Amino acid sequence: MAPCLVKEMYKAIFVDIDDTLLDYIPCCREAFEAALPEHPEYFDIFFKISGRLFSEAKHGQHTVAEVMELYPKEFIATIGYPVEKVDPFKHAFRAAWGTTHTLVPGAKEMLETLKAKGYRLFAASNSFGHLQRSRLEHAGILPYFEDTFISMDIGYDKPDIRFYQEALRRAHLQPHEVLMIGDSMTTDVLGAQAAGIDALFFDRQKDSLLELTKDL
Ligand SMILES: [Mg+2]
Repeated sequence: MAPCLVKEMYKAIFVDIDDTLLDYIPCCREAFEAALPEHPEYFDIFFKISGRLFSEAKHGQHTVAEVMELYPKEFIATIGYPVEKVDPFKHAFRAAWGTTHTLVPGAKEMLETLKAKGYRLFAASNSFGHLQRSRLEHAGILPYFEDTFISMDIGYDKPDIRFYQEALRRAHLQPHEVLMIGDSMTTDVLGAQAAGIDALFFDRQKDSLLELTKDL
């Protein structure tokens, strides 16, 4: 869903992180296997539970902060481990997650190109700020960003219009000066558009990041 881009208007680009810059499933599997090394085969159960809860969060049923607490509990209960295992699993997963950094093909090159063209770049993601910044740093792409707007720091989750409004305020930008790029129609595209920001949908099944952004 490519909008009618008026590229000379944009001063800045907001970029989603998971499944736009960093490859979510391999990162998730890596953190899971570090947190529960004795049962790597349980990853599919874990992924299904967390996926459902994050999907519910996109539609306003939970906050992302709530999901971060809910999915370890539900997973540990589902595999029949005692409740005392919830916190160790949760902490081990988060610690490992903060270093996961498998890049989506073309992500670094896209940032390099956009930066060279003079755009101000900002990351915009639903998660913990310190963990997302750590992951960008491990991936070698943190220096491309002037700032990172992460929901737990901002106080609202995408697609809440207040997430985008607060990001604009922090960056001293007007909505028409910004383009949002992300892989979620709900949180990235519709959320940004509700705040008056143009958005570019990255369909991971079809698009290459470099091709998608070549005319910017
Ligand atoms: Mg995403």
